Amino acid sequence: MNYGRLNADLIEELQSLLNIPVKYDEESLDRYSRDETAELKAVRPEVVTFPVSTQEVSEIMKFANRHLIPVTPRGAGTGLSGGAVPSYRGIVMSFEKMNRILEFDEANMMITVEPGVITGEIQKLADRHNLVYGGDPCSSESSSIGGNVAENAGGNKVMKYGPTGYHVYGLEVVLPSGEITYFGGKRLKDVSGLDFVHLMVGSEGTLGIVTKITLRLLPKPKYSVALLVPYPDIDTAIAAVPGLMSGSGVVPTSLEFMDGSSIRAACSFLNIEFPYADAGAHLIIEVEGNSKDSIFDDYVKLGEAAIEAGGLEAFVADNRNTRDKLWKARKSIAEALAAISPVHSMEDVSVPMANIPKLIKRSEEIAKKRGLEMIAFGHAGDGNVHVTFIKGDLPQEDWDRNLPLAEKELFDETTELGGCISGEHGIGIKRKKYLASIVDEAQLDLIRGIKKAFDRNNILNPGKIVDL
Ligand SMILES: Cc1cc2nc3c(=O)[nH]c(=O)nc-3n(C[C@H](O)[C@H](O)[C@H](O)COP(=O)(O)OP(=O)(O)OC[C@H]3O[C@@H](n4cnc5c(N)ncnc54)[C@H](O)[C@@H]3O)c2cc1C
Repeated sequence: MNYGRLNADLIEELQSLLNIPVKYDEESLDRYSRDETAELKAVRPEVVTFPVSTQEVSEIMKFANRHLIPVTPRGAGTGLSGGAVPSYRGIVMSFEKMNRILEFDEANMMITVEPGVITGEIQKLADRHNLVYGGDPCSSESSSIGGNVAENAGGNKVMKYGPTGYHVYGLEVVLPSGEITYFGGKRLKDVSGLDFVHLMVGSEGTLGIVTKITLRLLPKPKYSVALLVPYPDIDTAIAAVPGLMSGSGVVPTSLEFMDGSSIRAACSFLNIEFPYADAGAHLIIEVEGNSKDSIFDDYVKLGEAAIEAGGLEAFVADNRNTRDKLWKARKSIAEALAAISPVHSMEDVSVPMANIPKLIKRSEEIAKKRGLEMIAFGHAGDGNVHVTFIKGDLPQEDWDRNLPLAEKELFDETTELGGCISGEHGIGIKRKKYLASIVDEAQLDLIRGIKKAFDRNNILNPGKIVDL
């Protein structure tokens, strides 16, 4: 594709459409040239725009079509697959100034927001009204709801509430042509036409630009209790997971695991103590309920099942303070890793829950064979594991050669176990070359066809998910 380039005249024309000054100084271009994906080459845009309204977004897209300039939407840049990193320079469209809560509709238990709102703000607002927003990525304090919708972000409460897409009911979308449309609404049922809402969710900013989002809220359970269960080794912890629910008859809100290295990295990063910090692995199991008796019953059953499966103890965090401390450690692992072992590759494979033990075993074998260090943590209850390869002391050229081999082997094993290569972080640039190994040619053709139907000129986030 021969894209146009932004000369001074075009930048002036673009600026005339917008309220906030565009940026193209070296420092800004550098800042918007990457996200949080380690091991990904930064690519500078030619200009960064900060639209403040749907109309401005639409004007930018019409401008981009007139001059064939690629546009990369950007939320908070916390992505882990390179979705907000431009593949072909052009315009980065940042949503940091479109960050208003537009409507809090308590009667319908719906909230409508602009895409740049930080997810944690939605959670806190809902909480103040005794409601809950069920989306909860570990990055909730730093990622934007627009980015969560575009990635169908998962996180810690998927077992009970499902990923982001389960909460999205209405979307205002600027199509790549610049036309403005609205998919869905506040109604809970809608089979009038195709389900465009859920085609947009998880489309990684390649089909349209989300400018308003209507989310469903749910009644907030009165009580939550978290259990922390250390295990002697990761195999025992992981093997315990599939039986926990069937053994206890309880579906927890969260069921997370962290291997020993992950927890030690988080503790050293946060400078905190953790019970059984030298254990091989920990599970965090959280339950919610509306009566003290029923929640007590639930966590006792889960705790007993966890210990029966080899747990060393079950610590009960039944007040906000201790629960927050526990979650802080879990949520800091990715950040700790970036600080302590900056050269790493965090994967996001997802398998049917009962296959997690095999997945971890095979990942360890792959890491050993390729001379890489490895840690693993993630959302055990939904089968989503962040197998993370670390360079450690390996010479750079060995890392460069062995990492792609290890990734390919990991993805092949995952596929054999009935899994997929990304459970929540998306394909983006990082996993594009591996998509064909899990999706057949007929599906790849469909993806390309849908992209072409939405974006004739291939100007919206080109170079992501598939190449045309
Ligand atoms: C420490 C840490 C922990 C994390 N934990 C989790 C986790 O538990 N679960 C999880 O799922 N992810 C997690 N992530 C990954 C990341 O936070 C999510 O993918 C998040 O949804 C990205 O949101 P963002 O606002 O930063 O989007 P960005 O990174 O800016 O963009 C992500 C994608 O969304 C597109 N996009 C952004 N805004 C729009 C819009 N308005 N319209 C259309 N497309 C748009 C971009 O083009 C890009 O393709 C974590 C990341 C970090 C750094």
